[in-house]
Amino acid sequence: MSGYREQAGKVWIAGAGPGDRELLTVKTARLIKEADVIVYDALISAEILTQIPEQKELIHVGKRSGNHTVPQEEISRILVQEAKKGKKVLRLKGGDPFVFGRGGEEVELLAKEQIPFEVVPGVTSCTAVPAYAGIPVTHRDCASSFHVITGHAQRDGEIRIDFPSLARLGDTLVFLMGLARLGWIAKGLLEAGMKKDTPAAVVENGTTAKQRKVISVLSDIEEKAKEADIQTPAIIIVGEVCAFSESFDWTVKRKLGGRQFLTTRPRQNSSRLAKRLRDLGAQVIEMPSIRTEEILPNPRLEDALARMGERSGEQWLVFTSPIGVSVFFDGLRRRKTDIRKLLGGSAVIKVAAIGSATAAALEEAGIFADLVPEKYNAEELGRILAETADKNSHITILRAEAGSPMLLPPLYKAGIWVEDVALYRTCTEGESRWKEKLTEMLKRGEIDAVAFTSASTVRGFAQMMEGFPLSQIHALCIGEQTEKEAANYHMQTEVALKASMDGMEKLILQKYGIR
Ligand code: SAH
Repeated sequence: MSGYREQAGKVWIAGAGPGDRELLTVKTARLIKEADVIVYDALISAEILTQIPEQKELIHVGKRSGNHTVPQEEISRILVQEAKKGKKVLRLKGGDPFVFGRGGEEVELLAKEQIPFEVVPGVTSCTAVPAYAGIPVTHRDCASSFHVITGHAQRDGEIRIDFPSLARLGDTLVFLMGLARLGWIAKGLLEAGMKKDTPAAVVENGTTAKQRKVISVLSDIEEKAKEADIQTPAIIIVGEVCAFSESFDWTVKRKLGGRQFLTTRPRQNSSRLAKRLRDLGAQVIEMPSIRTEEILPNPRLEDALARMGERSGEQWLVFTSPIGVSVFFDGLRRRKTDIRKLLGGSAVIKVAAIGSATAAALEEAGIFADLVPEKYNAEELGRILAETADKNSHITILRAEAGSPMLLPPLYKAGIWVEDVALYRTCTEGESRWKEKLTEMLKRGEIDAVAFTSASTVRGFAQMMEGFPLSQIHALCIGEQTEKEAANYHMQTEVALKASMDGMEKLILQKYGIR
């Protein structure tokens, strides 16, 4: 690396794929976590943007055909300037950075300025968008090559498309940035000798929940696209392979294909539901609306832990959230408290979890809960615990500050010794970075519903979206408390039959799934 200044930053020119979050490469996903500053385009989907850790510096250089918010030269200058500050700069671009992404121009300046850089290829819309529309760009029977053409003007304002050559090739033609000139392109190909009935397709917002397509033939594809009011970003595909689209149309067959949901839990445990929904074909925007903060120092917890090993008889540890479980075990690790020390005394340690998600979190720590109530709520947990626990046992509740008061009365009534220890507090101050983007998406009806898994996530969301008419929100609620809170904000509510992630998934499938 001689010639490069010490301490120099570095730039990664990376592709983010065509929209579906899972088409992000492993490398770009890692760089999103590691970069100091992220410079991104308008084409990057909300599903991907909301993955960006909170403390990252962001620079939006949103650029769309016909609406150049930040000129290309300025973008290149920003990259150089940020790298010179010694930062790791991630330039996040739609699709692949070197396929009509002007990545070449950005690299030009970096090379000239001797800024270290890497190029991270991405999944390009040229092949991915047809694939999601059921169109293989090549096929042994009818297309032995495919050609990617831009419908955008060159630097001098001219568009040069060699229609006679394209028509002669006769294989698959993929046009990017061509929607505005669709009629002109079709006419050019027809005049160059292509048959009127050559299959053609236009695909809008490919790979995302908003994907729409029009399949027809070259002579009327423009008219059909207009009728369907196809908007950018869209790609045009011409060739026999378009005829496969209907029978190969797999995306719409996914149970939640075309659906988009928003989840609001804190990052550490939002992904389980999100993963399942994605598996069923939905796009899921994970946008935490609450934050949790560990209570530190925590003398009550220290005290409770110290005394636990000293006692004999039955001792219960009660967890009421997956976050509580992770805060507790992280705390043990940090204090270098060996789990054997906790369990090894003469006491018989029992563990209770409020619901299946909490029980699953405990399993990850190697503990299978002795008690999980059928119905997820604090009162029920208190009642069952009072019935199950030995009257002389000691119960330590490990949960959030200001947890539900309903848990305690049944235990007091049974005369059981209870200690309520707060491990963490919940702050209803979620991310505000994406409020504007989400507001737009909600207004356009692009988000089918918002999933809430606690009353605090409802409050956090309401606070985050202040000013937005919440009565328009379809709220999917895990249980009655959560629903009550959502109803307080006049949201349109649905509640899961069983208060668990399974219950939430069932509710979503029942309301939004195709049968
Ligand atoms: N570098 C990008 C292309 C940038 S040019 C890539 O490799 O995909 C922008 C054009 O790409 C758009 O005008 C549109 O033609 C196409 N495009 C990008 N994402 C798309 C999507 N999700 N659906 C349809 N077309 C898309």
